Amino acid sequence: MAMDKYEAVFISTPTIGNLVPTVEFAHHLTRHDPRFSATLLIITVPERTIVNLYTKSLATAASHSQSHVNFIHLPTVQPPTPDQYQSSLGYTSLFIDKHKPHVKHAISTLASTTSVAALFVDMFTTSMIDIAQDLGIPCYLFFASPASFLGFMFHLPALDTQLAVAFVDSDSHSGFIVPKDSAVELIVPTFSKPLPPSMLPSHVLKRNKDGYFCFLENARRYTETIGIVVNTFLELEPHAIESLSISGLPPVYPVGPILDHAGASRWHPDGAQQQDSIMEWLDQQPPSSVVFLCFGSMGSLEGPQLREIAIGLERSGYRFLWSIREPRKGKLDLPGEYTNVEAVLPAGFLDRTAGLGIVCGWVQQVRVLSHQAIRGFVSHCGWNSILESVWHGVPIATWPVYAEQQMNAFELVKELGLGVEIRLDYREGSDLVVAEELERGLRRLMDGEDEVKAKVREMKSKSRMALMENGSSYKSLTSLIQEISSRMQGSEVKY
Ligand code: UDP
Repeated sequence: MAMDKYEAVFISTPTIGNLVPTVEFAHHLTRHDPRFSATLLIITVPERTIVNLYTKSLATAASHSQSHVNFIHLPTVQPPTPDQYQSSLGYTSLFIDKHKPHVKHAISTLASTTSVAALFVDMFTTSMIDIAQDLGIPCYLFFASPASFLGFMFHLPALDTQLAVAFVDSDSHSGFIVPKDSAVELIVPTFSKPLPPSMLPSHVLKRNKDGYFCFLENARRYTETIGIVVNTFLELEPHAIESLSISGLPPVYPVGPILDHAGASRWHPDGAQQQDSIMEWLDQQPPSSVVFLCFGSMGSLEGPQLREIAIGLERSGYRFLWSIREPRKGKLDLPGEYTNVEAVLPAGFLDRTAGLGIVCGWVQQVRVLSHQAIRGFVSHCGWNSILESVWHGVPIATWPVYAEQQMNAFELVKELGLGVEIRLDYREGSDLVVAEELERGLRRLMDGEDEVKAKVREMKSKSRMALMENGSSYKSLTSLIQEISSRMQGSEVKY
């Protein structure tokens, strides 16, 4: 008897942090169960060079491999005009929405030749749920941030009422709302401790701007999906995951950690040569001696902050690998690479620290974290970075910058005891982290907090066990697949 064949279709927000784990999950699903193949519908944002390099590399890789994952680059659409949006998230949401006719056409075409078993939307592509509903295709959410933040999103409509009565608009230029009473704390079920308001994402703190409405609207639509796949694992976030299993919410499937172990090696333009020289330098360092600093695919810090870091690093005396990216030029751009990084660092810094450390641009983070010379990671606390760090057993010192990273930092330090704090509430426009503050954080990361280091080591082995046969994430993926396939077997729908 011929084997049933199922096609899973994915539509991801065009950012590295969402797209890369979606691609990896598609591979993971098709490897786990040979009945599945997957198609990713790719949205191209012209300004996002790094994302576009990545998506181009996917098409090339797919044509050379035995993979069961295909990529369809959707036709380009007219971008929203500046009068239509206030924030980059507002722009991205409108831009995604404009792809609906193309998404519908692509899925209908696929469905005419194969059995489309599921459409996976992500954190910010929930408007595509309309298409799944039109075509009668079961719709799931793939969530590339932690379960704790998923719970926050579910709780946002209720929180909105609290924000409306207990907060006022700030008169500072940040435009953030501030609590009327400085002692106010927020209760979010996926966090076991009350959340200080300073942990809220900047989009939520700008309550009358389009980014906040995007959050609310997407959060509302998560409940219209049949199930939610989260890139996390039960042993890492037990409280958050358990508190999500309440009636009324779609079932949650923690299937992680799903990582791109090859990292940017395949696709980033800063060719293999430059990355190889970084790895050669790491090879020459003593085991567990280097601190690695990196602030994500969209992270960049301004000159005065870079100078404080440089002074702090120099004073600390630790060996370092420091990834610096040039601040983005426009609202929609991503950070670029400095042509002359020396100009933004204190005079003579590179000469004085030659041999002790390296300053670089985009770096193959996963490859670096896997190196035995790395002892600690100063991270912006993007969820992929946290998972990569846990996987390689490298403790993090928290320095959040954007998105939900303040909350991730809070979870890591205050809830899970898996990180040490440099700052939990840093964001664009915050007071500088001065050299002494960084130096203190580095000492805690590199030479203190044995309990944190022991927990990170333990979580490293749990992260690997979760994916093994009968591990928690393996079982969760199996039950997701059972759910999808039994729905298909019971369905009479013909597309
Ligand atoms: N990354 C990298 N090199 C860099 C910066 C980032 O390889 O110089 C990778 C990192 O390994 C991670 C991803 O980009 O997989 C960033 O995802 P994350 O969720 O940590 O943060 P985001 O960039 O979405 O804020």
